[in-house]
Amino acid sequence: MIPLSQPQWQTETWQQQLSGAFRSLDSLLAALQLDRAQAPYPLDCEPGFPLRVPQAFVARMEPGNWFDPLLLQVLPQARENEPSPGYSLDPLEEARSNPVPGLIHKYRGRVLLIASPACAVHCRYCFRRHFPYEDNQPARADWQRAIDYIAAREDISEVILSGGDPLALNDQRLKELVLTISEIPHVERLRVHSRLPVVLPDRLSSSCIAALSESRLQTVMVIHCNHPNEIDADLAARLGELRQAGVTLLNQTVLLAAVNNQPDTLCRLSKKLFNVGVLPYYLHVLDRVQGSAHFELSDDVARALHVQMMETLPGYLVPKLVREDPAIGYKVPL
Ligand SMILES: *Cc1c(COP(=O)(O)O)cnc(C)c1O
Ligand code: SF4
Repeated sequence: MIPLSQPQWQTETWQQQLSGAFRSLDSLLAALQLDRAQAPYPLDCEPGFPLRVPQAFVARMEPGNWFDPLLLQVLPQARENEPSPGYSLDPLEEARSNPVPGLIHKYRGRVLLIASPACAVHCRYCFRRHFPYEDNQPARADWQRAIDYIAAREDISEVILSGGDPLALNDQRLKELVLTISEIPHVERLRVHSRLPVVLPDRLSSSCIAALSESRLQTVMVIHCNHPNEIDADLAARLGELRQAGVTLLNQTVLLAAVNNQPDTLCRLSKKLFNVGVLPYYLHVLDRVQGSAHFELSDDVARALHVQMMETLPGYLVPKLVREDPAIGYKVPL
């Protein structure tokens, strides 16, 4: 028997949770006992990049708190519509390294595959926020072109599944994709960059973990976690299973004003990640995408935060502070 007090989403499959994600401002605010008329900053009620956030993520927000660091990552604000000089629609200029649809080959030895354009959550700071996600479902023919491209280049030893969010694929497609990649002899490593484990831990079902870990490839999962409050018992348990299955776990964080721009927050995040078996990998400064300027911190502030982390934490808990440069083939240290 399921106790009556258990929220409905906890008994649903991940697909049901995904389709039941909040998509309206009013329902999200109601769930958090927030009154729109009392908002301390102007909201955007008709955002061009729609609101989307799964209930499992909302459950980790503090009701009644307009400044909850998880809420600020997903709540559309009117400021997103203010034009900001120096901010672009495609800050990474990914079209420059896009030899076949759905594949980005910019870094030596590694290719990035847009495995699924969809995301479970819409992060307001996202550099792909102007990307027409839903119109870009890769067709099977595109898969094949990407696979042929990788197969023809023996120096590619790592395939990175990205998106959107690659774990928005169902387990069957994920399994097929991993299997196909593993059949290319020179590919040694599979890497998955995903925010889904954080925003919807149930996505890491046993069949998903099996799909990711049962090939001959070495598998790395990079989760995208920005704040210690995002790590709860559910996520810890699922990550434990991934580790048991032999998957190496790393994290990348985006530095965000009002969300994680305190040294104490970043240090707690690193420690909490380590406690659940995840090593901090990258601390990214924001990509300058139109609509995200209110999250930006200056390079000086970013460097000062990083120094404070170095002064506080063992070296292995200090992520690399980097920025993405469209013209450079690695993440550039600040
Ligand atoms: C970040 C990124 C990678 C991976 O870089 P690492 O430094 O190996 O983590 C690969 N390709 C693209 C296009 C990237 O943006
Ligand atoms: S999960 Fe990643 S790709 Fe998707 S909206 Fe958030 S930041 Fe963007």
